Amino acid sequence: MRIAFCTRLDPAEHAAWLATLRGLRPQDEWCESWPEGAALDAAVVAQPPHGALSGLRGLKLIQSLWAGVDRLLADDSLPADVPLARMVDPSMTAAMAESAQWAVLCLHRHFFDYAAQQAKGLWQQRPQRRAQEVSVLVLGAGAMGLGVAMRLRGLGYQVQAWRRGLSAARPAHPMDPVRVLAATDPALAPSAAEAAEAGETAATAEVPILQGQAALEAALPQTEILINLLPLTAHTRGFLNARLFEAMPAGSAVVNFGRGAHLVEADLLAALERGPLRRAVLDVFHEEPLPRDHAFWSHPRITVLPHVAALTDMRTAAQVVATNLARVEAGQAPLHRVDRARGY
Ligand code: NDP
Repeated sequence: MRIAFCTRLDPAEHAAWLATLRGLRPQDEWCESWPEGAALDAAVVAQPPHGALSGLRGLKLIQSLWAGVDRLLADDSLPADVPLARMVDPSMTAAMAESAQWAVLCLHRHFFDYAAQQAKGLWQQRPQRRAQEVSVLVLGAGAMGLGVAMRLRGLGYQVQAWRRGLSAARPAHPMDPVRVLAATDPALAPSAAEAAEAGETAATAEVPILQGQAALEAALPQTEILINLLPLTAHTRGFLNARLFEAMPAGSAVVNFGRGAHLVEADLLAALERGPLRRAVLDVFHEEPLPRDHAFWSHPRITVLPHVAALTDMRTAAQVVATNLARVEAGQAPLHRVDRARGY
C-alpha cells in the first residue's frame, strides 16, 4: 500500500512513529509528502494541517492516531467519502483508568486538601469514608468511559456510566452490565490478566449503564464525582454548564478528561464559588497550553493537568494502525470507524 503519514507531532515523535509503523508494515511505501492529486491507499494522521489530505485519490482509510476526532472533523477539507477510524488503544484506555483512579482517590480521601494543608503547615484530619459510600457518574460509556467505570467499580466505588443510547452496536437495555457490552465488542473486553491486575472479578466489574436525558437528570442529584469522557460534538459542546452543576449535590466534584470545549469555564468558577461544587480536576482546556494568566492556574480548588490523562501509546497503537491497514487491504471494514454525522 502507499500510505500518507501526516502529523504535526514534534519531529522526534513523528520519526519514532514512522519507524515503528515501517517496522510493522515494511511492505508499504510510507510517504511524508506527495504531489497534488496523488494516488494513495491510506492516510495515518495526527492533527494534520488544514487541507493536507484534500485532492488525494484512491484513499480507503484515514486512520487517526488520537482517540478524539473533533479537530479532524472540523477540517472541512477532509475527504468526505473516505472511512475515518479513531484510535482505540488498550494502553491509552488503561492510562485513562489510572488517571481517573488517581483523581477519584484524591477527591474521596481528601488528598488534594492534604496537599493544600501541607503548604500551610496545617495538621488536620478529615473524615474517612468507604469507597462503597462514594457515588461516581462517568459521562460517556465508550472505550474510555467504560475503562474508567470498570476500574473504579473494581476499587469498590458506586459507579454508573451514561451514554447517549443511539449506537446500534451497543445494548439497548438501560441497565445492561458492562460484561454484556464487552461480550458484544471484544475490543472493549479486558483480558483475564488485565482484569485480575486491576483487582476485578466478573462480579465487581459490572457497571450500570444509563441512557438518555431522563436517566442523567435522575442520577445527577446523587453524583458526588462526575467524570466527563464524552466526545466533543455539536451536542456535547458546553455540556458541563451551570444547569448540570446545579443538579449535583453540595460538596460534589467534576473531573474533565474529555475536551476543554465541554466546559463552560465561567459556570465552573461560579459553581465553585457559590456551590454546589467543592473541587474540579481539569486535563483539557479551551486553549492549550492553558494561558499563563488563566484563573484556573491559581484557583485553590482546581487541579490542572497538561492534557495527559491518557496519551496514545505507540507500542500498542501502532499495532492497531497495522491491523486496520491490513483490514482495508483485505477489503474489510476498518475497526473503530467514526460516524461522521454523529461526530464520534
Ligand atoms: P467513544 O466513541 O468510544 O465513546 C463515546 C461515548 O460517549 C459513547 O458511549 C457515546 O454514547 C457517548 N456519547 C456521545 N455523545 C453523547 C451525547 N450527546 N449524550 C450522551 N452520550 C454521548 O469515545 P472514547 O471513549 O474513545 O473517547 C471519548 C473522548 O475522550 C474522546 O472523544 C476524547 O475527547 C477524550 N479523550 C481524552 C483524552 C485525554 O488525555 N484527556 C485521551 C483520550 C480521549 P453511545 O454509546 O450511545 O454512542
